[in-house]
Amino acid sequence: MVDLKGQYEKIKTEVDSAIQNVINNTTFINGPEVKAFVADFEQYLNVKHVIPCANGTDALQIAMMALGLKQGDEVITADFTYVATAEVIALLGLTPVLVDVYPDTFDIDVKAIEKAITPKTKAIVPVHLFGQCADMEKIVALAKKHSLFVIEDVAQAIGADYTFSDGTKKKAGTIGTIGCTSFFPSKNLGCYGDGGAMYTNNDELAKKCRMIANHGQSVQYVHDSIGVNSRLDSIQAAVLGIKLKHLDEYAAARNKAAAYYDKAFANNPKLKTPARAKNSTHVFHQYTLQLNGVDRAKLKEYLASKDIPAMIYYPIPLHMQKAYHDPRYKEGDFPITEKLCKTVLSLPMHTELDEDTLKYITESILEFVK
Ligand SMILES: *Cc1c(COP(=O)(O)O)cnc(C)c1O
Repeated sequence: MVDLKGQYEKIKTEVDSAIQNVINNTTFINGPEVKAFVADFEQYLNVKHVIPCANGTDALQIAMMALGLKQGDEVITADFTYVATAEVIALLGLTPVLVDVYPDTFDIDVKAIEKAITPKTKAIVPVHLFGQCADMEKIVALAKKHSLFVIEDVAQAIGADYTFSDGTKKKAGTIGTIGCTSFFPSKNLGCYGDGGAMYTNNDELAKKCRMIANHGQSVQYVHDSIGVNSRLDSIQAAVLGIKLKHLDEYAAARNKAAAYYDKAFANNPKLKTPARAKNSTHVFHQYTLQLNGVDRAKLKEYLASKDIPAMIYYPIPLHMQKAYHDPRYKEGDFPITEKLCKTVLSLPMHTELDEDTLKYITESILEFVK
């Protein structure tokens, strides 16, 4: 699905020397690479604070802790997402409230959010799924009206731009109260291990996040709140600092591959290509088809026999997962998500896809569905 080796080969000299430098200096934790990457990333995102942490799941958890969300508070998120989003809500004793998504962009349905708001609702977690922004202008307006926090899950959409109706542009994750992202190796800005970050323009919130990520410590050995231990290590920051310089070029390569797929599958009634959201650029974390009258398992098997990987993101809606079983929900409650879980198929998507590979992938798929 990704070609991290091919991507590494192109930046090998720079990456190897940056990693070696960290080892030479033995500044493995909180080294100058972390500060440098944070500063570069703040500038890239045009945001006041980037707070690094150990992974994207921690970023979501720390953000929710820093916002002071309390047991019983309701947090609205999409039913069609990676489990981490709902996991931290549940772990903190908050109540995940699930809503359906749009059938074309896969992003959270704003009308469904509005319907789900109760006096207990404290936050909305829009997930910028597969690489494009949810309908943030409407979500932010809704949050303002009901005094809710907006915690953006940007794990899949680092670098995407959202344009407001007045023409203002903002980076995904810098629009709501706080943005939470992941640098997992296969993400659009991936390190060589685990990593994550929060972004916010709110000074007070940034301070709280920093403190919670560091054992709730404001001054060494002075603990003002219960925290966690969540750090981005210097080797990961060194790799990210190098890859950040290539991020826009990586997004362009992904868009080029997506355009090839789009063209190859255009007008094929059995293959619905992914729609583009109106106000967002797409950074194509995933290129996800919706199959119509195609045996997905057989297609996946057929592709595997030709050494073409394909993945189902996500096969089971959150409300149908045993761990998130909630008597409020039953099969049929989120028809769009349920249908998507049965029909989606994500194709190889990364920065190293050349025309020959794309031709081979698309021809193989077209041969199967003909
Ligand atoms: C990857 C991902 C996360 C979690 O990130 P980790 O770094 O793996 O903890 C959270 N939300 C979404 C939507 C993701 O894709």
